Formats: sequence, C-alpha cells, structure tokens
Amino acid sequence: MSIQPFLIGGEWIKGNAVPIESINPATGELNGYVGSASAADVDHAVTNALQAQRQPSWCNMLPHERARLLYRVAELIIERGPQLSAQQMRENGKLLSECSFQAAAAAGAFRYFAGICETMVSEVAPSRGQYLSTVVYEPFGVVAAITPWNSPLTLEAQKVAAAVAAGNAVVLKPSEFTPTLALELGRIFIDAGFPPGILNVVTGSGPEAGLALVQHPDVRMISFTGGTATGRIIAKIAGERLVPTALELGGKSPHIVFADADLDAALDAVVMGIFSSSGQSCIAGSRLFIERSIYDEFLGRVVERTRALRVGPPDAPQSQVASLSSFIHRERVERYVASALKEGGQILVGGKRPDAPELEKGAYYEPTIIAGLPSSATVCQEEIFGPVLCVLPFDGEADLIEQANGTVYGLGCGIWTESFKKAWRVGRAIESGTVWINTYKALSVATPFGGFKDSGIGREKGFYGIRVYQEAKTIYLGLG
Ligand code: NDP
Repeated sequence: MSIQPFLIGGEWIKGNAVPIESINPATGELNGYVGSASAADVDHAVTNALQAQRQPSWCNMLPHERARLLYRVAELIIERGPQLSAQQMRENGKLLSECSFQAAAAAGAFRYFAGICETMVSEVAPSRGQYLSTVVYEPFGVVAAITPWNSPLTLEAQKVAAAVAAGNAVVLKPSEFTPTLALELGRIFIDAGFPPGILNVVTGSGPEAGLALVQHPDVRMISFTGGTATGRIIAKIAGERLVPTALELGGKSPHIVFADADLDAALDAVVMGIFSSSGQSCIAGSRLFIERSIYDEFLGRVVERTRALRVGPPDAPQSQVASLSSFIHRERVERYVASALKEGGQILVGGKRPDAPELEKGAYYEPTIIAGLPSSATVCQEEIFGPVLCVLPFDGEADLIEQANGTVYGLGCGIWTESFKKAWRVGRAIESGTVWINTYKALSVATPFGGFKDSGIGREKGFYGIRVYQEAKTIYLGLG
C-alpha cells in the first residue's frame, strides 16, 4: 500500500496513526492512502514550526521580501492550477469548473497578502507627553490552521497567506476527506523558496491530529473553519489556554425576494445560491423567503428551474450539480429530508438520489425544495450543508426580519428588491456578517468575512485580515 506522506520541517513523513483512505465521492473509487499524524507527529510539527519561525532568516526577513515569496506561491498555484483543480474534484466531488475558479482565487489570496506586506504600515499615536508612541505588529509565532472539506483550495490559501504574510509559521491540518491539497501547498512553498518549517502540513483526523494541535502549548493562535460544534470544542480549549482564535463556522443564510424585485435576476441567484457546490457552502442561501403576494408564482418558477438542473459527474461540462463530498455526508442530508417529512413538510422537487444508473456509484443527491414548514422546523433551523432549499412566505418587513434572524446563525443574507431604501433598512436589520443586495455569493479577498452569533468569531480577509495573525505592540520612545 503506497501512502502519501505529510510535511514537517521540509521532510516528508508517513506518520504514526492509521492512514487515511481517500475516496472519490463521485465514483466511489479509491484515490489512495495518505499518512495520518499522531499526537507525537503533531508535537514534532509544532516544534519544527517554532524553530523555523525563530530563525533570523525568517523573523528578520523584511516584509517586502516575504511578499516576493508569496507572489511566487501565487504564480506556482496558477501554473499548477489544472492539476490542483482536478485533485480537489477527485476528493470532494465539486464541479471541475468551480474547482478551477477556486484555484485562481487561492492564487489571488497570496497576491493580495503579498500586496499587504508591501503596503501595510505601523502607527504613530498622537503623543500625550515627551515621548513618541508607536504601535508595531508582531507575529504570534506558531499558528494552527484547521480547515474543512468543502473548499480546501481557497480556505487553506486564505489562512496560510495571511498568517505567513504576518510573519508566523503555520501548522495546517486539512480535513481527512480532502487531505492532499494542503500537501500540494506545502510542496509549492518549498518550490517557491520558503524556509523549511514555515508551512507544515499534518494530515490526519480531527479528534486526533486536530485536537493535539489546538492543545499544543506552543501554538499561540488558532484559525479554524468548520462546523459550529467543532468550533465550540476548539473555543473551549483556546479559552482555557488563553489563546486567540478566529472561527469561521456554519450558516443558515436567508435569501429574501420582495415582490418589487427583478424576479428574473433573483431566480438565477436563488437557484445558484443554494445549489452551486451541491449546497455544501457555508453561505448557501438555504432559506428562501418570498413575499406573500408573489409566493406561488415565484416558487413555481424556482421549482421549475430546479427540476431542469443537470445532475452529473463533476468533470462533465454539461453538469450543473455534482455529487456530495462523501457517502456519509449524503446520509446526513437524507436524515434531514426525512425529518422534514416527519414534521409535515412537502417536497416540491428532489428529495431522493437520482435514478440515472451512471450516477449510482457516486454520492449524488437531487436538488431538493421543501415547503409548508414553519421557521421553527428542524430543517429551517439547522445547517444541512447539502442541496436542500427550505421555502417560507413572509408578510411585511417586521415578520421577515423576525423570521430571518430567528436562527442561531448569522453568516450571509441575500436581498432582492428595486427599492434601495428598503434594501438598506433590511440589510442593516439582519444579523449577518455579509449582506448581498441584488447579487449573491459575491466574494472577494479584499473584504472582511465572518459571522455573527454562532457563525463565528473574528473576520478573515480584507485589508486588516493580516492583523488577525498579529499582536499589537506599543513602543514608547522617550524624548524628554
Ligand atoms: P468539521 O467541523 O467537522 O471539521 C472541520 C475541521 O476540523 C476538519 O479538519 C476536522 O478534521 C477538524 N476537526 C474535527 N474535530 C476536531 C477536534 N475535536 N479538534 C480539532 N479539529 C477537529 O466541519 P466539516 O469538515 O464537516 O465542514 C463543514 C462545516 O464547515 C460546515 O458547518 C460549514 O458551514 C463550515 N464552513 C464554514 C465556512 C465559513 O467560512 N464560515 C466555510 C466553509 C465551511 P477531520 O475532518 O479530518 O476529522
């Protein structure tokens, strides 16, 4: 059995835990085996990261020199984009077109934070005495980055680019369902000329490698993207250790359509907003709120459009919805749909695996729309993270805002109306880290991203995204 090793301090290591079996969810075929890190391997990785971070060649490197290395990483991601995209597709079943887009976005994250390295300034505060008061920003040292399986290319890039731009060393633990993109990033770091140990990758399971990483005393900051339940476990440990965390967690985003909206544009966005990535997106518009006066008509159009979506292999150009990321995850989605039926929901389209024999071996699930449930129903409250849209009518702004804010989440929100005043009012009232008005899922590395309430703590990306990975230090210089 050939096992793909992971990366510690520039060395490739097979690890002491049981190797990961990587399965292609679109075909059920084995991709291969990947080494798995034990707690001892994680300790080895953190020790190497700490040593590398303290080397004068790294900690005295000037920001514009770090920028040069980050630019080189961006170039190599672009060069290797086709390979990286195909690799992600084989691990999480995402459409190849979406994977290619994400490879380009990953390169963009490295370019952006290289630019920040070149331009970010320290501060001089107004003096209140005979001194010069300055604020400089220092790296934490070793940052732990833990990522989920839905978009490893982009999520790993946005964490690593910002943390390294800030001067840290990183130990990255990807999801066991998508272990190898992080390894490719590690290879790219070596080829770009980064000192060994600045990026270490430990593949392995969350409860073993992930937990050992967040508990490690030399990890001084934790950046996590994943489910809210895991985020809570990590936050408790970090709280006990007094280590800062950035948590990007789940969502149950409302997508709102008012009667005065451009309904053709809203229709495209609603369908794309939930069914792209087979709904496995933290910002999926998974609750559709339609103003009562257009409820039947607009819902009919959404159902018709959804029924026409082409479910198929992720590498087939005609496919619009591909497989789910794993068989175990499809079962979870199926349990949610069963719970909706039990609570009295009506399935308007989908609600089952596709009949096509050529899709039988993959983890496919039909795009599904559920109506007839109150906002309090399980499927309207919990994150399904699959191709399932729950539809709810609303009567006026007050009713809408109460329903839209009536979950524990607060990650994204879409609003469709031709009235900019209404859009502004509702947008301000919704508890959500991002609001899209007459667009949906527009994302940029140049804007902060994160969630209200149980959707997370802190904001990644944007001009100040680098500060997530730095500590402010005030230095007074006596002039008296
Ligand atoms: P999980 O929370 O299950 O896993 C995320 C990562 O945490 C994985 O690498 C996992 O390892 C690891 N992990 C699991 N348990 C522990 C632990 N006890 N200690 C340390 N690490 C652990 O999420 P999923 O991978 O299932 O991803 C889906 C979730 O991610 C959804 O809820 C989604 O909303 C959220 N997400 C949020 C985004 C955001 O920006 N807000 C973006 C994308 C996704 P392993 O998988 O190897 O067991």
